[in-house]
Amino acid sequence: MSKKPERHPCIRCSRMPDENDKYCAVCGAPVLNRCSDEPGILKKGCTFVNPPTAAYCVKCGEPTLYLTHGLLQTAYPSANKPSSIAGFR
Ligand SMILES: [Zn+2]
Ligand SMILES: [Zn+2]
Repeated sequence: MSKKPERHPCIRCSRMPDENDKYCAVCGAPVLNRCSDEPGILKKGCTFVNPPTAAYCVKCGEPTLYLTHGLLQTAYPSANKPSSIAGFR
């Protein structure tokens, strides 16, 4: 039994994407709300598929694609990294 990420209508235009679509054919929005932490040369990356409402990845705290594409609003700046407090060095 293969477990596929659940499909949902486009967050922007409500079009139902085809099974293999990565981006919406109508408006170009990402179909899946993946973590923006892409695999790179020196890192594994995360790319966890988050719920459509998640502004930050529930696995690593990086912004999700929906947030980086401006498709979600959040009142909070990212807090996944320790903020540098002035005088605390
Ligand atoms: Zn769309
Ligand atoms: Zn992540």
